[in-house]
Amino acid sequence: MGRLIYADNSATTKLDKRVLDEMLPYLEFEYGNPSSSYSIGIKARKAIDKAREVIAGAINVCESDIYFTSGGSEADNMIIKGIARANKNKGKHIITSRIEHFAVLNTCESLEREGFSVTYIGVDKNGMINLEELEKSIRDDTILISIMFANNEIGTIEPIKEIGKIAKKHNIYFHTDAVQAIGNIAIDVDDLGVDALSMSAHKFYGPKGVGVAYINEKIDFCNLIDGGHQEKCKRAGTENVASIVGMGKAIEIATSNISEKISKVKMIRDYCYKKMLDLDSKIILNGSFNNRLAGNLNVCFDGIDNQNMLLLLDMNGICVSTGSACNSNVSAPSHVLSAIGCDSKRANNSVRFSFGELNTLEEVDYIIDVLKNNMNRIRH
Ligand SMILES: *Cc1c(COP(=O)(O)O)cnc(C)c1O
Repeated sequence: MGRLIYADNSATTKLDKRVLDEMLPYLEFEYGNPSSSYSIGIKARKAIDKAREVIAGAINVCESDIYFTSGGSEADNMIIKGIARANKNKGKHIITSRIEHFAVLNTCESLEREGFSVTYIGVDKNGMINLEELEKSIRDDTILISIMFANNEIGTIEPIKEIGKIAKKHNIYFHTDAVQAIGNIAIDVDDLGVDALSMSAHKFYGPKGVGVAYINEKIDFCNLIDGGHQEKCKRAGTENVASIVGMGKAIEIATSNISEKISKVKMIRDYCYKKMLDLDSKIILNGSFNNRLAGNLNVCFDGIDNQNMLLLLDMNGICVSTGSACNSNVSAPSHVLSAIGCDSKRANNSVRFSFGELNTLEEVDYIIDVLKNNMNRIRH
């Protein structure tokens, strides 16, 4: 053994060595508090400012609208709870979808317990939200629409620009959870009409535990974390300097030559899908064939329990997942697969492969060999 094939890049990604190298000085020598006014403090402050500038540039927003958080989950909470609580005098209705990440779904449920009302709109068999249904669900008291950019389980890319137009027309704020999209789709926030956006560094070869909430300055929002004056008094706590520096470097790498990277990852994914179909023509692709993230391959293997599949692949050094990573200990069928109309049998036979730029065709050949040699043994 010893071989490791990592095909779970939607769960997290490997830290890029170039990112680590940028981070190390801030873990070792440059330990000043960015709020301190002597040199090593100022140095840390400048490093944060630089990362903020790079991140703002990568999505085409104003750097003063970037707030560092502890990750994608905190960014989702900060934005959704923050906007809801600050704007409740205008209305208490929120629209989201049934296929959001739990960081959005459970945040909305929490707001329901605070007295907000939430409409969870459905999706079609490809995981696409219906724009007409979205517009019809808008009420006089709707204050926020939160729809993810790309789904983490089936990779469906939502019509963000069209949603942005609808939101603008009705004067409603629009948040998108873009955690899966950064580094996998070119994003221009200004062009898309997005008012708030969440991202997380560990999904694009950066460190875990650091993210960003972009919140347009026109939006009033309440703090999620109160305390010191960091992040313009909007998100307290001494900054995670090394991780913020790493996130800046990671987004710089992730957003350069993005179309080449997308083509490469798509080529690997498509090769894998074709080889799987050659192996077993009964394989079903979950989600949209065309409108999906380049690396995402969520497939149903008829008659093979996905827990057994996961075990088999793991025994051979291959990392994949069933549902989302946060879901892996729960045996209930994925809420995303249920929303696209998969019955529990199909959902429990489904596995997500998510490829990234570090994967190779040779790795895919190895995956296919493992499947070929073992698939029938673990069936039923
Ligand atoms: C991973 C993920 C999150 C959570 O981000 P963390 O940084 O792990 O908290 C939120 N939304 C989506 C779509 C994700 O894929």
